[in-house]
Amino acid sequence: MKAVYQEVRGKEGLRIGAFDDPRPVTGDAVMKVKAGGVNRIDLYMRDVGKGITHELPLVLGVDGAGEIVEAPEGSGLKAGDEVVLYPMAYCGRCAACNRGDHPNCIKFDIAGETRHGTFAEYIAMPAKCFVPKPDTISWQAAATLPVAYLTAWRMMFGKDALKPAETALIVGVGGGVSSACLQMAKMIGARAIVTSSSAGKLKAAQALGADHGINYRDEKVARRVMELTGGAGVDMVIDNVGEASWGDSLRSLRAGGRVVTCGATTGGHPSADIQRLFARQIAVYGSTLGSIAEFRQLIDVVARGNIAPIIDNTYPMDDIAEAFERMEQGEQTGKLVVEIDC
Ligand SMILES: [Zn+2]
Repeated sequence: MKAVYQEVRGKEGLRIGAFDDPRPVTGDAVMKVKAGGVNRIDLYMRDVGKGITHELPLVLGVDGAGEIVEAPEGSGLKAGDEVVLYPMAYCGRCAACNRGDHPNCIKFDIAGETRHGTFAEYIAMPAKCFVPKPDTISWQAAATLPVAYLTAWRMMFGKDALKPAETALIVGVGGGVSSACLQMAKMIGARAIVTSSSAGKLKAAQALGADHGINYRDEKVARRVMELTGGAGVDMVIDNVGEASWGDSLRSLRAGGRVVTCGATTGGHPSADIQRLFARQIAVYGSTLGSIAEFRQLIDVVARGNIAPIIDNTYPMDDIAEAFERMEQGEQTGKLVVEIDC
């Protein structure tokens, strides 16, 4: 089959060409991939891969949607079923899996990280990882859901859900997860304040319903947030930026507020500001992906048209390096999608 794979680390190690067909093991189904979404983790797998154990070559791609071509008996799947991939092959036996908390499974594989991924004509994954794709969701939109939208869903609604009467601060709007968080905040009618260094991204966010945009190049974020909230601070901060924004994120919260993170693109070791954490009783928690149940909730909301995934651009498989480049430069608003067979 044709695939995008990493032969050695680095840009020059990216290959597009013939790769062995997937070899399904017991319980696996095989999906013919229609579209895949690009994520920051793809760049990490391309360039670094540290801490993730899979020897190269590795087919990249965590996000994907497509059509079942082969399914085990009794799996409920059959050839021709249109599906979205839940990218985490969870064990199904540990305590976390038993309580439906799949992202905290103790023994899992993730497509495009610890097993071959979605930027290929075919992928084999456990049958339980394929969730039906409603007709009202396009292949391109479906391909954006497994990573960015699912991650955003769990951040917004998974632990201490954002409520309609609350205000969220979304740091560094423009990327896939932060744009999705903005859409979800507005979906429930909450107030959303967003930050960016780009006037274009702030404008795009306002078109998506952001109530206020703060350009952090020109304005002091925490001070401006306090002005906008009558000195109270926001209820929830969504921060995937990390070191560069962390201080402002903590200072923008109301007492008893929470900051949720799923990434640290500018670094992972900001000042913890522990005095502020306890004095103002701030909760800090991390989030990654979501459970199968959360994935189904998300797909249902998208199918009903309550959230329309934002697609910045689409690329044929042969031009995937361009998509990676756009992500690396942080130029995108929303998701970059690779069309494999659609
Ligand atoms: Zn498990």
